[in-house]
Amino acid sequence: MSTGPIKPSREHRLLGVAPDWADTCLTCGTCAGGCPVTGVDGLDVRKAVRMAVLGLDQELIDSRFPWVCTLCARCENACPMGIKLTKLLRKARGLRERAKVPDPIHRGVVMNLERGNNLGIPKDDFLFLLGDLAKEMEDDGFPGFYVPVDKKGANMLVTINSKEPFGEPDDMKFWWKIFYAAKEDWTTTSTEWEGVNWGLFSGDDESMKTQVGRIVKHLEELECKTLLLPE
Ligand code: SF4
Ligand code: SF4
Repeated sequence: MSTGPIKPSREHRLLGVAPDWADTCLTCGTCAGGCPVTGVDGLDVRKAVRMAVLGLDQELIDSRFPWVCTLCARCENACPMGIKLTKLLRKARGLRERAKVPDPIHRGVVMNLERGNNLGIPKDDFLFLLGDLAKEMEDDGFPGFYVPVDKKGANMLVTINSKEPFGEPDDMKFWWKIFYAAKEDWTTTSTEWEGVNWGLFSGDDESMKTQVGRIVKHLEELECKTLLLPE
């Protein structure tokens, strides 16, 4: 019977963290000290590192840690050992069963893939709203203002956060007033205009790539030089 040291099993290392991290992490707490959510629901990013080092991958994936984290990367930037903490936490998000991902985020991803924006706003409603808001802008002292949609050759392509047309439409006017004053040559698109990529936040790389690919396609097809992601 072996009397040697017990080595953590690598078989269930879903997160791919090698046990050597135990030697790399100094448990100095610099990461947790600068983290804006330390203490919320017991979050201490050092614990997440320890869990990964000890092979408690599934426990970390099932915990609230990765979801309480804002992925701001302050911890990672402060870590003297260069440990990729946000990569670890985002990977834990991506490995969670999709049905158990916090609902609004996952539903937004699914809706976006199916209907082109996170809140499923139909194209006709969207275009009607843009026309209506443009008319208000004209009446408010911006003569000749209109929202250029699918304008080929425009300098700047502008994506939109679906919460604005859905619930805060006047917020779009802040940007539009700047474009008007600057005489910017801009456009947005009639479909797949969503600028908020919840695949990024849910750890769903494939969906994230699909959404990024749509924007790149718009840029190429409309031959725009600049992209504005106002989120
Ligand atoms: S800052 Fe880096 S080395 Fe220090 S406890 Fe956090 S992960 Fe470990
Ligand atoms: S990335 Fe997450 S764990 Fe790191 S400082 Fe930001 S909120 Fe805290």
